[in-house]
Amino acid sequence: MREKIRQFMAGRYGTDALNQFLSILAVVLLLLSLVTGWGIFTWLGLAALIYCYFRTFSRNISRRTEENYRFYNLKERVAGKFRGIKRRWDDRKTYRYFRCPKCRQMLRVPTGRGRIEISCPRCGTQFIKKS
Ligand SMILES: [Zn+2]
Repeated sequence: MREKIRQFMAGRYGTDALNQFLSILAVVLLLLSLVTGWGIFTWLGLAALIYCYFRTFSRNISRRTEENYRFYNLKERVAGKFRGIKRRWDDRKTYRYFRCPKCRQMLRVPTGRGRIEISCPRCGTQFIKKS
């Protein structure tokens, strides 16, 4: 039996971080459908599960690797946003955060300096804000 599984999986993609996420997502969605009784969660949960199995048994390994890479990048971006929000909250008493009006770069200035001219280190734009 184990040999059969090994043969079946030869040349197939197997599992990765995106599949782990998809299977957890499927469980969460199916639980939600049980709790709420909403059919939409059942369908979304099944879709996540089918996609997860499709990826596991897929022979297009480069494509799946690419998907996992994109998932990883997205995950890092979301995690980075949360880290940023947490940091802003942690030093809300000592720093204020502004976004550069030109290049959207996030800038941090000490609080309590009154009106100050901020110059963006990335694009050199200067603007005035109350710190
Ligand atoms: Zn800028």
